[in-house]
Amino acid sequence: MKNLVTIAGSDSSGGAGIQADLKTFCAHGVFGMSVITAVTAQNTQGVTGVQDIDPTMIKKQLEALLDDIQIHGIKIGMVSTINTITTIASFLRQVRNIPVVLDPVMVSKSGFHLLKPEAKKAMLDQLLPLATVVTPNLPEAEVITGLRVSSEAEMKKAGEAIYRLGPSNVLMKGGHLAGEEAVDMLYDGKNWYRYACQRIDTKNTHGTGCTLSASLVANLAKEMPMREAVEASKSYMKKAIEESFGIGNGPGPIHHFH
Ligand code: PLP
Repeated sequence: MKNLVTIAGSDSSGGAGIQADLKTFCAHGVFGMSVITAVTAQNTQGVTGVQDIDPTMIKKQLEALLDDIQIHGIKIGMVSTINTITTIASFLRQVRNIPVVLDPVMVSKSGFHLLKPEAKKAMLDQLLPLATVVTPNLPEAEVITGLRVSSEAEMKKAGEAIYRLGPSNVLMKGGHLAGEEAVDMLYDGKNWYRYACQRIDTKNTHGTGCTLSASLVANLAKEMPMREAVEASKSYMKKAIEESFGIGNGPGPIHHFH
């Protein structure tokens, strides 16, 4: 059994964050653990409140795992504050040689700032260099690089700029591009690999970024090579979006099947 930990925020509506990650881990047949960085109050219509967990409590959660359990992979999602980021970075330096997938969560689809704007630099300086792969969507890629990203050529330019910040791989998620296809692109420092699939017409896409990064760390922990892991995670996502269903009045969650 592979033991994976997600370090992320809680979504009370169960579609994103820790809840999406644990459902994804379960569907991938790995054992899921969670270190909660923040609790959000939210439903399908938006985020109504956030309480960041005290970094000393985040440190205690991380140490409790480190002291007792072998960890085979780590996913990092919502990290909120500079102190939270510093705490996670020092934990990552103690667990070398396992896949670390960083989803650079910044703003929710409903427009809520999940990363404090002043914490952006800490994320780039302290977490990106420790990531096996970082998975920005296009708005996140624009915030990270300051570049405009609205075509595949611009995705490559921004992806290479993000690679220079230190991660081993960059997976650029092109879901925000217009077009018939949803195109993601992987850069390993040498080559670009393109992953395209038919765009699925649904409003139920809450938690897609969380799910993709959790699926990716599960596949990497199961020792799939990076290119194959991205392919497998993209097809998991496609099925989860196809099988999504509505709960509430806003964009619903995607579906995690077994
Ligand atoms: N809530 C939490 C705790 C998250 O981690 C995220 C995204 O990572 C979201 C909400 C936003 O999800 P979405 O942008 O899919 O609505």
